[in-house]
Amino acid sequence: MTSRGRCAGLRREPPLRSHHLSLAPVPAAAGNIAAVISFSLDDEHEALRQTVMEFARDAVAPVIGGFYERAEFPYEIVAKMGKLGLFGLPFPEEYGGMGGDYFAFCLALHELARVDSSVAITLEAGVALGAMPIFQFGSPQQRAHWLPALCLGERLAAFGLTEPGGGTDIPGGMRTTGTLDGGEWVINGSKEFITNSGTSITSAITVLAITGRSGSRPEISSIIVPAGTPGLVVGPEYSKVGWCASDTRELSFSGCRVPAENLLGEPGRGYAQFMQILDEGRIAIAALAAGLAQGCVDECLRYVTERSAFGHQLGHFQGIQFKIADMEARAYGAKLAWYDAAARMVAGQPIKKEAAIAKLTAAGAAMDNARDATQIFGGYGFMNEFPVARFYRDAKVLEIGEGTSEVQRMIIARQLGLSNKT
Ligand SMILES: Cc1cc2nc3c(=O)[nH]c(=O)nc-3n(C[C@H](O)[C@H](O)[C@H](O)COP(=O)(O)OP(=O)(O)OC[C@H]3O[C@@H](n4cnc5c(N)ncnc54)[C@H](O)[C@@H]3O)c2cc1C
Repeated sequence: MTSRGRCAGLRREPPLRSHHLSLAPVPAAAGNIAAVISFSLDDEHEALRQTVMEFARDAVAPVIGGFYERAEFPYEIVAKMGKLGLFGLPFPEEYGGMGGDYFAFCLALHELARVDSSVAITLEAGVALGAMPIFQFGSPQQRAHWLPALCLGERLAAFGLTEPGGGTDIPGGMRTTGTLDGGEWVINGSKEFITNSGTSITSAITVLAITGRSGSRPEISSIIVPAGTPGLVVGPEYSKVGWCASDTRELSFSGCRVPAENLLGEPGRGYAQFMQILDEGRIAIAALAAGLAQGCVDECLRYVTERSAFGHQLGHFQGIQFKIADMEARAYGAKLAWYDAAARMVAGQPIKKEAAIAKLTAAGAAMDNARDATQIFGGYGFMNEFPVARFYRDAKVLEIGEGTSEVQRMIIARQLGLSNKT
């Protein structure tokens, strides 16, 4: 400590000794924040964001309420999304994709979810869970066979991991088996809550099954089951609290036979494959959740200028302003969290912790904002015809699907080196 510091009465940390730490000169950013770190979108991503925002406003917002009310899958909207190229965003052009990146895909989800989450989850599951495993782990023949129609959105693929025995406890809760017999996999078991698995354009479901044992541990593999395969029974659409215009089914497999070459990647690699797919998918769900959180702000900003109480617009009351300010802060934080995780992913950096943080943060923001938006709308917020009621119903599942919020906390704690083993 210097005598000057003591004279000035300042409490100072002990001086850093040079052999502990030495700083290289840090060039001044000279007012240019982008020289340090930038979350501004480049021109191409900004153009994509704008296009999807306009599509959601013009093609989704006017009609989605009816589909939601009728719990009807919106084939017309999905076809338009396909034509726009949304299902092919992160895939190479050789498969009919747009040659973009995962960030672009997440950006599209964010903009769609500002208006509606049923269409956003249909895109999320179709791309991140349906087509992506085939792209990442499929053989050249499997890619060439399945991807072109998936990239165009003409067909959808689904991802069958969760079982009645538990979605969190994988592989402990898994019972579905795949046995090789005469050059075919014979699949027996069941899956539940599988998105996009029962539409008339579903082409395949990638199913995780126990295909052997290594000591006491189950060996898990991924097997592509084409829709319509005998022995695959697709249950009726669930009656859901939210995501009502999306397709979610229970599946059962009874002596369901598919060719041996429908194995995705190597035998026994299914668990590792799907852990990777889920890490990435969490960023996509975070983008969707951040979009919903932002959509709540959008709706409230409109409403508080139209609605009056005590002779004033609602937006003139500070209590309402503070609520909306908190909502905007949450939506902004959620957006930065998925931007960061997606940018790391595109740069090929590790994402396990960041993806879990993004999903945990964004799902929480979506829940909080949906609650506050409904409150600001008063009684109208409880009426299904208003989008905020849809947001309220759609927000909860974001804390459940693709790993519950408890699972995200477990991942983050483990990444911090904490273990619950004694
Ligand atoms: C609309 C919808 C769509 C879905 N789409 C798909 C899909 O396309 N494909 C797919 O495979 N799955 C899908 N799912 C399943 C989803 O991923 C699971 O619901 C989720 O992973 C949770 O699994 P579970 O429902 O079996 O809950 P459980 O695993 O039974 O968990 C119940 C509760 O216990 C908590 N819990 C469990 N273990 C622990 C622990 N060790 N410590 C603390 N808390 C714990 C959980 O966090 C949760 O709160 C979908 C679900 C829904 C609702």
